[in-house]
Amino acid sequence: SRELLARSDKLAAVGQLAAGIAHEIRNPLTALRGFIDLMYQRARSNNRRYLEIMRGEVSRMEAIVSELLRLARPDRPQFQQVDLVDLVQEVVAFMSAQALLHSVEIRYEPGTPSLLVQGDPNQLKQVFINLMRNGIEAMQPGGSLRVRVFQDGHVARVEIADQGSGMSPEALARLGEPFFTTKEQGTGLGVMVSKRMVADHGGELAIESEVGRGTTVTVRLPVAQSAED
Ligand code: ADP
Ligand code: MG
Repeated sequence: SRELLARSDKLAAVGQLAAGIAHEIRNPLTALRGFIDLMYQRARSNNRRYLEIMRGEVSRMEAIVSELLRLARPDRPQFQQVDLVDLVQEVVAFMSAQALLHSVEIRYEPGTPSLLVQGDPNQLKQVFINLMRNGIEAMQPGGSLRVRVFQDGHVARVEIADQGSGMSPEALARLGEPFFTTKEQGTGLGVMVSKRMVADHGGELAIESEVGRGTTVTVRLPVAQSAED
């Protein structure tokens, strides 16, 4: 829809802006770090404590800037024919250990034996890792994460449904905004990046959620030409 399109344009613009700002901030940070080190060598011990704190905070800013640049300038996607069923099953196997640590069982429900799309396998894996991780993290006492891949006309659909905390309409509206996180160790970048990668594949990412019941994320991708009939 037009609204979805406008939203993904906005996200792309935000990503470019973030990359631009991150780049501009990197040089002044390098200068700050240099002068902090210089002052540290000449400082009395009571001032050294403050300079150590400053150096720690500059390091944190540098880490955020590097992460932003890495996200905003991903490797050029390598498009190829990908079997979405194989790829999703691979991610399920990969995420199972982490799921167990959260007492979550990932249940892959067979829909179709294979489903071809055009895509970058690494980016698509990253998308499903991000989404499954969110589902796992949302289920505090544990539960099961249901994963399905199926064909719906010209559209390949992957559904990831958790039985977790769910999201309020307010949280749902903010989901995908850069840095929106409710987790202590969260980056608030996982959904934004996933949405952009899916959009780069000509697809859409939709999220339905209900507080206390759980969240279902649906990724829609165009089926590859040769597989359409
Ligand atoms: P992060 O996981 O680092 O917080 P994300 O962009 O992946 O960043 O998610 C942003 C926020 O959206 C999360 O902090 C959480 O509040 C909410 N969220 C995402 N996925 C789910 C989900 N499956 N269930 C409940 N809340 C979710
Ligand atoms: Mg996340």
